[in-house]
Amino acid sequence: MSELPCVSCDTDIPAEASNCPHCGQRQLTRTTAITYVAVALPVVFCSVGLALVLGVPGVVDATVGATGLVACLLVTYCLTGLALGHAYAKRQRRIDAAAPTPATPADENAQ
Ligand SMILES: [Zn+2]
Repeated sequence: MSELPCVSCDTDIPAEASNCPHCGQRQLTRTTAITYVAVALPVVFCSVGLALVLGVPGVVDATVGATGLVACLLVTYCLTGLALGHAYAKRQRRIDAAAPTPATPADENAQ
């Protein structure tokens, strides 16, 4: 079983673990990445946008406006999503690199 350092405490833990057994920190698995991008981030950005419009409507109108606010939130969402995707891809490459290479058809023929 391949192991990876925990994103929080750096202890080597099983690559498949969704939470660190030592510190409990949630690891960036495929499910975590998808959940963050599909659910958590939209909720956070919609809440921030709504809070700004409802909380300080004068400031929003005087500066970027409602369209600008939505555009800013969308750009931030895309950048955060890309960063998450990049972090997940990096972790996945480390898992792939640590995993033993699967047998090729040529190897099976040789046995
Ligand atoms: Zn940990």
